[in-house]
Amino acid sequence: MVPQDFGTGCPLYTAIKVFNENDVPNTIPRGLVFIVGSKGQEELAVLSCPCGCGDRLRLNLIKASKPNWSWLIDIDKTVTFCPSINRLTGCKSHFFLTEGRVQWCGRSEIVGL
Ligand SMILES: [Zn+2]
Repeated sequence: MVPQDFGTGCPLYTAIKVFNENDVPNTIPRGLVFIVGSKGQEELAVLSCPCGCGDRLRLNLIKASKPNWSWLIDIDKTVTFCPSINRLTGCKSHFFLTEGRVQWCGRSEIVGL
């Protein structure tokens, strides 16, 4: 069963672990985050932009290189990233992903998409 946001009915973002970025499908379904790497050596998180633009977002998880994101997978597999995800190119989306829920920053016109 897919956990849902009872406020919006949107599926919450949940994590799937893969060993290699080649294991990430070309079209990433909304609500999935692929965590790439071996256990304890995760390198990358890949998701499609929640605004719907279809762009693939790649978040570096390696502490030694910057910028990098802290991440947490909850017992229900929902994902939290810190800090926020701020796209400087493309759709320029800026959002937090907290316990699988997207919280937009300063782009209130696209809430609900
Ligand atoms: Zn976007």
